[in-house]
Amino acid sequence: MGLERTLQIGEGTFSIEKCAKRFLRTIGTVFLASALAFIPVAYASEKQETRTKDEIHQKIVLGNCLLQGAISGFGGMQNGESYWKSFAKGCLGGTLIAGGKIAVGNDLNNAWLGKMATSFGSSISYNASSGRPIDDSFGADFGPAFLEWKKNNYGSYNFNAYLLPDSAAYLMSYLSEGDKIDAELSLRHGTPILISDGISHPVEAYGLSGANIIRILDKKRLGNILECERGIDCTDNIHSDKEEIQRDWESILNHELIHTHQYTSTRSFGKTILDIGNFRKARKKFFEPLHVNLDHWVGDYLSSFALGYNGAGNKSLEEEEAYALSGHLE
Ligand SMILES: [Zn+2]
Repeated sequence: MGLERTLQIGEGTFSIEKCAKRFLRTIGTVFLASALAFIPVAYASEKQETRTKDEIHQKIVLGNCLLQGAISGFGGMQNGESYWKSFAKGCLGGTLIAGGKIAVGNDLNNAWLGKMATSFGSSISYNASSGRPIDDSFGADFGPAFLEWKKNNYGSYNFNAYLLPDSAAYLMSYLSEGDKIDAELSLRHGTPILISDGISHPVEAYGLSGANIIRILDKKRLGNILECERGIDCTDNIHSDKEEIQRDWESILNHELIHTHQYTSTRSFGKTILDIGNFRKARKKFFEPLHVNLDHWVGDYLSSFALGYNGAGNKSLEEEEAYALSGHLE
């Protein structure tokens, strides 16, 4: 926020503040880029084998704290707040996000609790990266809908709903491939879940997620594939009742749910990137009135690159996190 100190020279306007801000932004961009680049290196340099669950959880808490801290620090600074103050708030948000991911990775029954923790943490980081108080706005995504409660000048909250265009696009694309929405599973786990007869795009997979939309193989189909792979008689389709197949299927869902948490948590990153340059104006004038929210899309897309390409068979940090927390079969 700060004071606008403007030097008037003749007809033109020269603002020290603006020059200083531009300079800080450039420095900040370099710092954010180095922080983002450093985190994967620090992660990758550690040996993965023989880790206890506690060690994995500690690492995930630390990673999410540093990542959200760096994003919020930079975002807050762009908005006139101190870097480290915003970093601390972002780290708090990141810790809650890690808690949400750990909760859902441990047990599908924690799906809603985990989603709330992640949404809450993402909102704190978002507010910090906007240079706002941590209770300025609370947001949660459910499929293509983004719901936001934002504090008004009177201290109460206004509700608004926005469209997440990337989520809508994934939903349409999966439906067009013949997947069916499972309403009960979707409501129980807090995100749209589609049942598929076969996932081959972009690669053969048991489960896949795009934005916050999950597609997962039908249990019978999965049972059939796994039993064939394991060299068990797989000429019929009656394996889906087996406890082992049920467990496998659930761990795939754990894994994909963690990906949806990662999507939720990219809100602050997208906002911070979109705040650079003139996009801030376009957002206010065009996207806000249309109730279209691009934060998650931009954040999700760019973090996939920043944290390593997020393709199947390619161990990006996001994949590593999802595998480590869900214990999902490779
Ligand atoms: Zn994955």
